[in-house]
Amino acid sequence: MGQLNLILVGPPGAGKGTQADRLRGDFDLPYYATGDILRAAVKEESELGREAKAYMDKGDLVPDALICKVIMERVDSTEAADGFLLDGFPRTQGQADVLNDALERRGRKLTAALQIDVPDEEVIRRLSGRRTCVKNGHNYHVEFDPPKNEGVCDQDGSRLIQRDDDKPETVRHRLDVFHEQTKPLVDYYEKKGLLRHFDGERPPGEVHAHIRATLATLQLEEKL
Ligand code: AMP
Repeated sequence: MGQLNLILVGPPGAGKGTQADRLRGDFDLPYYATGDILRAAVKEESELGREAKAYMDKGDLVPDALICKVIMERVDSTEAADGFLLDGFPRTQGQADVLNDALERRGRKLTAALQIDVPDEEVIRRLSGRRTCVKNGHNYHVEFDPPKNEGVCDQDGSRLIQRDDDKPETVRHRLDVFHEQTKPLVDYYEKKGLLRHFDGERPPGEVHAHIRATLATLQLEEKL
């Protein structure tokens, strides 16, 4: 099997993390979610975290130079030699260029950009009801996926909170940022013939089956 170098594209709350979990299980790919990496850095109060925090709190993007370094270190690691799954990166044309050039220099290329489409109103509904456990980041939804005991994580018993950037006004801003900065990127991958669309309003199992079928086709095409 050739490399599976994949990126997931879609608004916050599209279900990228859910699909990533399934794809990791299918293909044993390392998964790099820039939002998770940055949140962990903020929690550790590392230099990266200190630099990123102010941007993140406002729902703004952190500077390209900062995030590109973080991601390229991972793409170059041995565990990513046969492929990787990026979530939340690239988010801008500048980041896409860095990734493209870096892969080219290494004789690698992107397999596909998997775009999960969800309308804005649905994103707001999903994210403003999301609750996250303080210990390990397990996610729940007050309406669609409530924990057994309100405010407590089923998996590790820790407290559930609403992430600052899941507050409705910040979600709207994150969506604006997504549309503004990511739209050109989507056009770019579309032009390169790498973009594949999935309907994020379908149940997660269906979205997953659709992605698997698409990847199987891409792998077959590569062999021909
Ligand atoms: P997420 O959980 O993916 O929505 O990311 C949370 C926050 O991390 C974003 O609102 C940004 O501040 C920052 N972030 C994540 N990925 C990137 C990226 N590729 N470029 C710039 N900022 C990012």
